[in-house]
Order: sequence, then C-alpha cells, then structure tokens
Amino acid sequence: MRKPLIAGNWKMYKTPRESLAFLEKFLPLVEGHTRDEIALFPTMSSLGYVLEATEGTNVRAGAQTMHWLNEGPYTGQTSPTMLASINCTHVLLGHSERRIYANETDDMVNWKLKAAIGHNLVPIVCVGETMDKRQSGLTEAVLRWQIANALNGVEREGSEKLIIAYEPVWAIGTGSTATPTVVSEAHRIIRREVAERLGQERADATRIIYGGSVKPENASQLMAQPEIDGALVGGGSLDAETFARIVKYS
Ligand code: 13P
Repeated sequence: MRKPLIAGNWKMYKTPRESLAFLEKFLPLVEGHTRDEIALFPTMSSLGYVLEATEGTNVRAGAQTMHWLNEGPYTGQTSPTMLASINCTHVLLGHSERRIYANETDDMVNWKLKAAIGHNLVPIVCVGETMDKRQSGLTEAVLRWQIANALNGVEREGSEKLIIAYEPVWAIGTGSTATPTVVSEAHRIIRREVAERLGQERADATRIIYGGSVKPENASQLMAQPEIDGALVGGGSLDAETFARIVKYS
C-alpha cells in the first residue's frame, strides 16, 4: 500500500557534467523498474540538468533544500515557486546537515513544509537523534519533538504527499548503519506521532524512509522490515552501479 521510495541525496557532490555522466549509466540500469519510486537530489547547480535528463523516465529529481518565501532579498536562497517553475517535484527539508551547518530550526522546517504543501511539492522531512541524545535515552523525545514541530498547523488535507526520513545523525556518513530493529522502533515512534497530529489513516499511508549508511549489502535487510518504506542514500548514491544495486535491493 505504501510504494517504497529509494532516494539519492548527492549533497555537495557532482558538477552538471558529472551528474549527466551518472544518469547515462544509471537510467538504463533501472529502466522499467516500477516496484519502487526512484528520486535523486542533486545540488542546485545541477538540478535543472538532471530534471531535463530524467524527463519521461522513472526517475524523479528534487532539491536538497529551499526557502519558505516565494521571493525576496535572501542571497543564496531558492524559493518553492522557483522549484515548481522548473518542474521540480520533490524537496528535502530539515536534513541534519542543514540543521547543523545552516542553523535550520524546527520552526523553519515547519514553515518550509507548509510552503512545500502550498506548492504541491513532495516534502521529505528529515528527523533523527544524535548519539548523545540516544545514549541519554532521549531518542523518542527528540523524534516526537521534531515531528510535532514540523507538523505544527499542518492540516490532514494537503499532507497526502508528506514523506518522513528517519536519519539518525550518528549513522550518517559513518558506515555504522542502524539495525533494522532500531530503525523499525524509531519508525513506529514517528508513525504514532504523525497519527496524533494527522490521524491514524494518514499516518498509515505516510511513507517513512530510513537514511544513514545504506549500502547494497544492507539494503535488502532494511527494506524487508514492514515499517521501512524506503531509503535516503548519501554516499551509496554517488556511483551509478552501486545506487542501482540499492534500488534493486532484492
Ligand atoms: P550516507 O548514506 O552517506 O550515510 O548519508 C545519509 C544521508 O544523509 C542521506 O540524506
């Protein structure tokens, strides 16, 4: 009932030329693959090229972040209107690297989510605890807090496209993947919180995907969990063959 989403977050990697070289290899490898939705998140400078090259294929493309306003004197920012105008369909919101290095707050994630919904974009809201918080027994509190704040004032109507990415900060880029049990438990916490905010039916239909050192070697084990509706892949999405192996996890 929840179609899995396998997404590649390219972070600050790949020029337009490198992005197109990736697609030249990747698109044939996943051609005809319909079991999962596939999406790529290139840098802003490559996004237009990737959107053009993936048009009419089974691969979607999105932005790694955006502002919540439509326009204004905000140097370096890109607005939801601008993303929609180039037929960009997806957007990552509140990735931990944005929270840490760009000081994105829970309030900003909330404003961005509402803006994404208003522009009919597919919002992927990223949440996750640090190792410090996990070791202090605060994982549940952190996840509930982040979800509650992100969804503050968000209505059931309009939130149909919402996707949540659980990305424990300690698993990102470290090679130490969270176990399927740890991920499933976190996803249950997230789904309960979504149910409290948007109702059980919406929560049951909302995809919750996992990110943090997903590789071809652990993808099938993670994806076998009923609570895990997909993956948000960083390092493992940079090489076309590796990412195609993750997409075809079983
Ligand atoms: P890695 O797959 O490199 O751990 O990154 C995960 C991530 O941050 C995806 O958004």
